[in-house]
Amino acid sequence: MRTGRRAFLKLGVVATASAACFPARIFAQGAAPRVVVVGGGFAGGSCARALRQEDPRIAVTLVEPNATFTACPFSNSVIGGLRELSAQQFTYDRVAADGIAIARTTATAVDAQARSVTLADGTRLPYARLVLAPGIDIRWGALPGYDEAAAARMPHAWRAGEQTLLLRRQLEAMPDGGLVVIAAPANPFRCPPGPYERASLIAHYLKAKKPRSKLIVLDAKDAFSKQRLFQAAWAELYPGLLEWVPLSKGGNVTSVDAATLELVTDFGRHKAAVANVIPPQKAGRIADAAGVADRTGWCPIDPATFESKLVPGIHVIGDAAIAGAMPKSAFAANSQAKTCAAAVARLVTGAAPSTPKLINTCYSLVAPDYGISVAGVYAPSGGQLAEVPGSGGVSPAEAPRSTRAAEAIFAEAWFRTITAEVFG
Ligand SMILES: Cc1cc2nc3c(=O)[nH]c(=O)nc-3n(C[C@H](O)[C@H](O)[C@H](O)COP(=O)(O)OP(=O)(O)OC[C@H]3O[C@@H](n4cnc5c(N)ncnc54)[C@H](O)[C@@H]3O)c2cc1C
Repeated sequence: MRTGRRAFLKLGVVATASAACFPARIFAQGAAPRVVVVGGGFAGGSCARALRQEDPRIAVTLVEPNATFTACPFSNSVIGGLRELSAQQFTYDRVAADGIAIARTTATAVDAQARSVTLADGTRLPYARLVLAPGIDIRWGALPGYDEAAAARMPHAWRAGEQTLLLRRQLEAMPDGGLVVIAAPANPFRCPPGPYERASLIAHYLKAKKPRSKLIVLDAKDAFSKQRLFQAAWAELYPGLLEWVPLSKGGNVTSVDAATLELVTDFGRHKAAVANVIPPQKAGRIADAAGVADRTGWCPIDPATFESKLVPGIHVIGDAAIAGAMPKSAFAANSQAKTCAAAVARLVTGAAPSTPKLINTCYSLVAPDYGISVAGVYAPSGGQLAEVPGSGGVSPAEAPRSTRAAEAIFAEAWFRTITAEVFG
């Protein structure tokens, strides 16, 4: 990872010795308004590209510290030994080729009055509109015992990369007969079906490689996404191997001990051979620094434009936003990104934004050839994004295995399509 002024200059972003000169230089050239997008994930990457498509005259700068993006969707397949991490990794070459200036660094502060973003090396980037798409941060310490040091022993693997590989290696090193424990958080969190897909694909690995082992999901909730479909599939594919413990039956993890790999609930202690703790989360920290996160840690937005309800001129998309009924998914992030780009392109020219409809589909794999999905259509209603009545739904409960196999193929196709759209 490279940060700082040198990396920034090398990537071709206009910068001067004096940060204060920056706006003058941009606007003196008669350029169209500059939109700065912070975060080059599914939301930010999509939005930057969609802005250029909406109006090629808009000068777009994407601020992202990593040269390579590592995607979370399908990272559960990496953990389950079905896929390599390299299949999850994408560069920003094509984004840059669209004429988007990439500042390979971190945004550290926002001056909403002056309309500028401060980068890690102190450079200030002026903006007409700012889009924040920083994804999530972990709420370190919210679960007693779970801090950054604990994550090295009990990986969360909820941001893809080293953590994903760590969890996979721990499973590979575990002797047959070991107990794997997954701690799933209360709502809201990134990817509502994610913990249950992960449980499924770890169970798939254990069934094949370590059949005397057991997997317990300790859950801080009594219900979860696509629950009936997951549970029916678990009964069919992983009987006796995978146990889900809901909140009401003692599933809520109240503390962890990384030294002994123990997870404590109100009902007892579980000593794991491998512990995957998915902790409480919040919007990426730049949201807090910009003043767009509320007391929940997430960012309230206008459902038509994704403009912050707290700070004008700043839009928040993706996992960081409070998007009403829309789940925190890559599909949703991409849909929000396009909606936000269309609104911003109109707002910077003084036009009124139109009323959007957004969509989401979340596929999950219960086994490599067994997919299920949930879909929805959303529109602004009562200041929030609400599900359009009668839209969407989940995969049929009674379906032949050929339907499940087809959905597994659709899932792969979706991943190829979205990553091509954002990075390809
Ligand atoms: C195990 C797992 C499985 C999943 N499976 C699916 C799935 O099948 N389908 C699906 O739709 N979704 C899935 N998701 C959810 C999906 O990964 C997220 O919803 C999606 O990544 C959100 O996109 P985002 O752009 O908001 O955040 P991200 O994709 O995390 O991108 C945020 C980016 O912002 C950058 N950033 C953060 N702060 C700063 C800063 N201050 N300055 C500059 N850059 C910054 C980060 O480096 C990062 O690149 C899954 C998630 C997990 C954990």
